Amino acid sequence: MHPLSVAQLLDAWEKGLSEPVCKRVFPVLAAAFVDCPIDELAALSIGERDRRLLTLRSSTFGSQLASVAGCSQCGEVLEWELETVDLLMEKPAELPGELSINVDNYYVRFRLPNTLDLASISNSQDASSARGRLLENCISDAQHKAEQISPRALPVSVTTEIVKRMAEADPQADLEVDLSCPSCGEQWQAKFDIESFFWTELSAWAQRILLEVHSLARAYGWSESDILNLSPWRRQFYLGMAGT
Ligand SMILES: [Zn+2]
Repeated sequence: MHPLSVAQLLDAWEKGLSEPVCKRVFPVLAAAFVDCPIDELAALSIGERDRRLLTLRSSTFGSQLASVAGCSQCGEVLEWELETVDLLMEKPAELPGELSINVDNYYVRFRLPNTLDLASISNSQDASSARGRLLENCISDAQHKAEQISPRALPVSVTTEIVKRMAEADPQADLEVDLSCPSCGEQWQAKFDIESFFWTELSAWAQRILLEVHSLARAYGWSESDILNLSPWRRQFYLGMAGT
């Protein structure tokens, strides 16, 4: 991974603004992982994409993640913190290009879901239709007693097995945080979406940097690139001197 300068990060964030929501963070990933262009990033499994996002986020904003969650039992809002390394699982030697199962006379070949698959189900009415469409995208061959069938015709027992195999093959795709409510003792696992977390953080950072550039350019007449080349400490010092 290639560490990004302030100017590179800002450029990549700006490019992300004109991408569809599902690919908004890819220009930043592509700038850091220079051997993987955006189209290839979109085809990565969700776990591999999230592994890269966690690594990039750690090198960009630090290794500590912090957020808040509401307790479903008593409504208490609790703050949580953890290290990115706590969410990084051991990397599989090789992600499978294709998986298959043979259950109850059903034979199915399928691949792991990627970002484009997630984008295609983002407008689904409910979880059931989303799961059906996701499986249709990923299944390349479905047979019952050697007869070709539609992926939609697969029984729940078989689709459940497919989802289980997908999760086993790409464990990094399912990020969860263990939480415990200090008020009522409720314990649960909250889903953690590193893509939206990192993008939200990046957007707040970029807007703050642009405001700093505006203030320093107005106060001192420096160019944007001169200001972006300053260390964060010097930027803050000069902002203080300029009284902004
Ligand atoms: Zn509670």
